Amino acid sequence: MLLIFPPVAKACEPPGGLPILGAVLKAHNVDYKIVDMNYEGQEFLLDIYFKDNPKKRHNRDLITTSKGYKNFDTYIKVIAELTRGLNNTLDNKSTITMANFLSSDYDSLKSLDLLKAAKNYKDNPFYEYYKNRLPKLLDNSNIKNIGISLQYLNQAVCTFSLIGYLKDNYPHIKIIIGGGLITSWVKSPYWDDPFNSVVDEIFIGPGEVQLLEYLNIEPNREKLISLKPDYDFTDFYKYYSPGRIIPISGSLGCSWKKCTFCPEKAEDNPFIAKKTAKVIEEMAYLAKRYKPTLFHFLDNEINPSVLKAITESNNSIPWYGFTKFYSNLKDLDFCKKLKTKGCFMLKLGLESGDQKVLDSMNKGIELQDVVIILKNLKEAGIKTFIYILFGTPAEDYKSAIKTMDFLIKFHSYITYLNMAIFNLPINSEISRQQDTYNFSDADLTLYSGFNHPKGWNRKNIRDFLKKELKQKEKIKAILNRTPPIFNANHAYFFNDLK
Ligand code: SF4
Repeated sequence: MLLIFPPVAKACEPPGGLPILGAVLKAHNVDYKIVDMNYEGQEFLLDIYFKDNPKKRHNRDLITTSKGYKNFDTYIKVIAELTRGLNNTLDNKSTITMANFLSSDYDSLKSLDLLKAAKNYKDNPFYEYYKNRLPKLLDNSNIKNIGISLQYLNQAVCTFSLIGYLKDNYPHIKIIIGGGLITSWVKSPYWDDPFNSVVDEIFIGPGEVQLLEYLNIEPNREKLISLKPDYDFTDFYKYYSPGRIIPISGSLGCSWKKCTFCPEKAEDNPFIAKKTAKVIEEMAYLAKRYKPTLFHFLDNEINPSVLKAITESNNSIPWYGFTKFYSNLKDLDFCKKLKTKGCFMLKLGLESGDQKVLDSMNKGIELQDVVIILKNLKEAGIKTFIYILFGTPAEDYKSAIKTMDFLIKFHSYITYLNMAIFNLPINSEISRQQDTYNFSDADLTLYSGFNHPKGWNRKNIRDFLKKELKQKEKIKAILNRTPPIFNANHAYFFNDLK
């Protein structure tokens, strides 16, 4: 079986899901190969560019060594140069950044466009790469199934172009797709199975048992419980980072699942957590086998028992990930212990600096606790990546000002900042209380438009962000040091900010 991670996503680390499926197959004696076509495809395009522009090749070296991260301006220039390289052979209908793919011909949220991308696969910028690589993998092989991991919207068009190529050239091979994005699509009330002409099977949620059932293999529960992700394939890749990042996961879903704005709640995704001891064991195993520079926790929220277990572990590998403002972080000694056990940075969803807004969205956090936690993390030497959401139904201009004031007042505790405008999850509880309208005629959209009950619409918010919030020196300073494109994924490598 061939497992593929398609373009385009950030190629700074390997994908986190396929190594688990690979380990499942290995444990059940099924031959498999994982190919990261996202990384390989970007390398293919860059190689063409470097052949014509050999003097630009050093940018490829800079992004993979610490030299590229010594100076923030150099880093930004390197990203810009590599982006130019990726787009060098493209017509003006497609754009590739190091984290995204955009096409004016194919809308990723329209199933008809994705089917069209499958039909017109020769139009895709990765076609030459597919044509070069896939015959080497498939000709004279006995591969009967290809599993494609579709996690992000930016992979959608290239995924369907890949499927089109495979259907045309290898019609006997079955195509299975799974991953976060396809799971969200299938859970949408408007899902109408539009891809059944090109896809043989769709997996929703975790694929381990589904894959074995699909292959008619009786799952060995003992083996499933004890298996570890198989990252052996990454030996062939030199990802766009100056150190080896290994993704790790302690849970799927969210144990809280109450925030009214969150797709986890809207989709009612189950919370599936590994035993705490298993997470620690996995960290030790991955540290020994792959000698990572950094662990990237993929969890929506690293839960408090895992945080506690890490403080009691022997882990010495730096790590970061999302967590919630949990009460154990109110203990300064606990934060200090986390730091000694590798915690480099925590990503935290604050969303708003107005308690009323937080309460209305069931965020389950108190601003007075947030301040204590941020202060503790700063004192312990743990960086913070803070996520803010403007435009939720309970927010208005006055609340947004409160958020801005909060950020200014506590700016010294905030290392990095991400600000987004709220999207209303389709078919969510909160959407039923709003005056909604169709965002677009796209059948795969996961969001509804809504008339904000307080008139605090997207245009007002954009104006506020541009003309007020982003003009504040203290906020500007945080935004200016937040790495573009790769964001949190590269934050660790900026020594001057450590
Ligand atoms: S926002 Fe975070 S804490 Fe809230 S439900 Fe979603 S994943 Fe859970």
